[in-house]
Amino acid sequence: MLNLQNDDPAMAALIDKERLRLEETLDLIAAENHAPAAIMETLGSVFNTKTIEGYPGRRYHAGCTYADEVERLAISRCQSLFGAEHVNVQPHSGTSANLAIYFSVLNVGDRILSMTLSHGGHLSHGHSASITGKCFDVRHYGVEKESGVIDYQMVAGMADAFRPAMIIAGASSYPRLIDYRKMSEIAGSVSAYLLVDMAHIGGLVAAGVIPSPVPHADFVTFTCYKTMMGGRGGVILSRRRFAEKIDKSVFPGCQGTSAVNTIVL
Ligand SMILES: *Cc1c(COP(=O)(O)O)cnc(C)c1O
Repeated sequence: MLNLQNDDPAMAALIDKERLRLEETLDLIAAENHAPAAIMETLGSVFNTKTIEGYPGRRYHAGCTYADEVERLAISRCQSLFGAEHVNVQPHSGTSANLAIYFSVLNVGDRILSMTLSHGGHLSHGHSASITGKCFDVRHYGVEKESGVIDYQMVAGMADAFRPAMIIAGASSYPRLIDYRKMSEIAGSVSAYLLVDMAHIGGLVAAGVIPSPVPHADFVTFTCYKTMMGGRGGVILSRRRFAEKIDKSVFPGCQGTSAVNTIVL
């Protein structure tokens, strides 16, 4: 960090302190992971310079030859890891990935059924404090009190009564496997889209340690910095028929240029 020490000693000192803090403490934060040095090098690479709008081969800026290759490489890695039909690696985070999905196939005011935050869900699943809760009509399901397991009967009953346009499975804090087949049957019974948010467990799915939601869901999202141990971006996997809508919803719908240096997988 010689350059940083010369140019900005205050920042260099904070980075040193943080490195020491990480080495000397054990924070068991499920949403954090220690990215390998190779990932840190990529994050601090010249790709931080590159502004890209659009998609590989169809950019609005000059000089995208290698940025295009980076994006194509990440997409093909996701396709082989998860067997997804369509992949978008541009979202800035998991929340941005979810937002882009909602605005790809839903209209403002449409109904969403998702897990409540207090039972393990996520803010971006329609919590009232999030833009997702302000734009859509959201109801929440939870876990069964005694077992702590998702009450699938309750989900089915709520879906039948509420008739959501989208059902979301996946949580920030749920230490059990989710029955994706059952969630997909429930969604199918009311013609709702099924989104599975596997933010925390993406790495376990990639490694084949736990079952994959990809065969059962219309859309799957995850973040790259949790069990995937990558940069801070988010990824959308979807069925091929949603490809165009998803891509347009990510850019220019929900965000501008994506961060090429964080497209590391
Ligand atoms: C961590 C997480 C996200 C993504 O959060 P960002 O902070 O936007 O990256 C989305 N959904 C769930 C379930 C999560 O746990």
